[in-house]
Amino acid sequence: MTDSTGARLRVAPSPTGDPHVGTAYMALFNLAYARKAGGKFALRIEDTDRARFREDSEQQIFESLRWLGLDWDEGPDVGGPYAPYRQSERLETYRPHVERLIAEGHAYYCWCSPQRLAELRDAQAKSKQADTGYDRLCLGMTRDERAKLPGFSDTPVVRMLIPDDAPLTFSDVIRGAVKAPRPDDQVILKADGFPTYHLAVVVDDHLMGITHVVRGEEWISSTPKHILLYRWLGWDVPAFAHMPLLRNQDKSKISKRKNPAARLLWFRERGYLPEALRNFLQLMGYPCEEGHEVTSFAEFVDGFEWSKVNTVGPVFDLKKLDWLNGAYIRALSDDELAARIEEHLRYAGTWGEAVPARHREILRQGAPIIKERLVTLDEALPKLGFLLADDDDFLAGWESDESMREARGGLRDDAVQVIDAAVDALAGLADWNADALHETLQAALVDGLALKPKFAFAPVRVAVTGSRVSPPLFESMAILGRDSCLRRLRALR
Ligand code: GLU
Repeated sequence: MTDSTGARLRVAPSPTGDPHVGTAYMALFNLAYARKAGGKFALRIEDTDRARFREDSEQQIFESLRWLGLDWDEGPDVGGPYAPYRQSERLETYRPHVERLIAEGHAYYCWCSPQRLAELRDAQAKSKQADTGYDRLCLGMTRDERAKLPGFSDTPVVRMLIPDDAPLTFSDVIRGAVKAPRPDDQVILKADGFPTYHLAVVVDDHLMGITHVVRGEEWISSTPKHILLYRWLGWDVPAFAHMPLLRNQDKSKISKRKNPAARLLWFRERGYLPEALRNFLQLMGYPCEEGHEVTSFAEFVDGFEWSKVNTVGPVFDLKKLDWLNGAYIRALSDDELAARIEEHLRYAGTWGEAVPARHREILRQGAPIIKERLVTLDEALPKLGFLLADDDDFLAGWESDESMREARGGLRDDAVQVIDAAVDALAGLADWNADALHETLQAALVDGLALKPKFAFAPVRVAVTGSRVSPPLFESMAILGRDSCLRRLRALR
C-alpha cells in the first residue's frame, strides 16, 4: 500500500438528485482513513452526466455532509491545490488524454447511432449468445467508410479497445484479490463531448494525486477498465477499497425508490442527531463488539484498520439507529437538548423566526422531562404540546380533538371525585414544585381516597395533559404552573 503519510482520499458524488445516504457512508470511510493517515480528504463533484444533473443537488450534498461533520480539506466550495473540483469545469483536461489513447490504438471512434446499439442489444438478448456488448463495427473504419453503412450518427463517441488479455483480477484493500467480469468496449467520451465517469474518474484521481479510491462495491466490475486506463496512460494505479453496499432488510440494494431512508436529508427531517447517524453509518461498514457501539469519530479514526471493514452488505437496521439516537440524546445536557430541538424545529420550518419567549422557556424546562424517552427530535413537540398550548386552545381540544376525547372517555366513574379532591388539595399548596405536588397528591388521592396510584393520578394526568400517556406528571404540572393546572382540572370536572 502507498506510504500513508501522503495519503489523499476523495468522495466523488454525482449531483443527480437529493443526496443518497451512501454518499455520507463513503465520505465517512474516506475521511476516517485520511485522518488516520494524516492525509487529505477532497470532495469532487462528478457532474458529467448532464441528463441526470440536478441544479440544487450540489448544495444539498455540501449541507448534509457538513451537518454530519464530514468536512473536506479541498472541494468546489473551499478550493484547493487541484481546483477545479467540479468535473464540468475540467472538460479541457480530459480531451488530450482521449486523443492520446486514440493515437496509440487503445481507443477508437464509434459512429453507431443509439438506435443501432439498441437493436444490437435486442438481437443479442434474443439469440442468447455469450458475447454481448459492442460488436466493434466501427473499429478500424474512417468516418467516410462508416457513413456508408446503416445506423450512422454524425457525432461519434470514443470507446476503449479492451484487449483479449485485459487483466481481470486486482487487489482490493478490504477484500484481497478480486476477480471482475471481462469489460465491454466502454465509451469514454460521449457524443456531447463530455467524458464518461470511467475516463473522468481515472484522469481526476490521477491528477489530484488520489492514493486510495474508496467507493461502493458496485464499482468492482468497472475497476479492470480503470486499471487499463491507468496503464495506458503510464500512471501509477491507486489502492482500491470497495465498501459493502448498504442493503434493505430483504438484502436488496438500498434505493431512494424503495426506502425513504436512502435519502440523506430524511434523517435530518426526522430529527436524528448527526453524530448518531455518523455512528450508525460507521457500524454498518465497521461492526464492533456488543456494548461498544457508541463511539466518537475520533475513537473510530484512532482504531481504524481496513481489515476490520465488513465485506458483506450490511442491513440497514433503523431500530439500531433509533437506539443510538436515544443514547446520544441522553448524553446531551438539558440545555443542549433544548437547543438541538429548537434548531430542528427551525430546520423543519415548524418554528419560524418569531418564536414567543414563553415557548422557548417551556422548551428549556420541558427538554429534561422528555429526554429519557425521546427517540428523535421530531417527537419533542408532540410530547410537549400540552405545555405549549395556551389554556383556551387546550380546553377547546375537549370538543375538537379525537384523542383527547378518547382519553376522557377511558376514565372511571370516580374521576369526578378524584379531581375534586385534587383541586381542594392543590388550591392551598404553597410551593408549586414537582416534589410538593407529588407529596400533596399522594396524600390526597392515594392515601386520602385509598386508591391505587394508577387510578389516583390518571384523571389528573388526563385533565392536565389531555392524554393517558405523558411526560412525568408532577414535573409537567410544575412547568405548567398553578393557574393553568387548576383551570384545566376544573374544566374537565
Ligand atoms: N460518481 C461516482 C458515484 O457517485 C463515484 C464513484 C467513485 O467513487 O469512484 O458513485
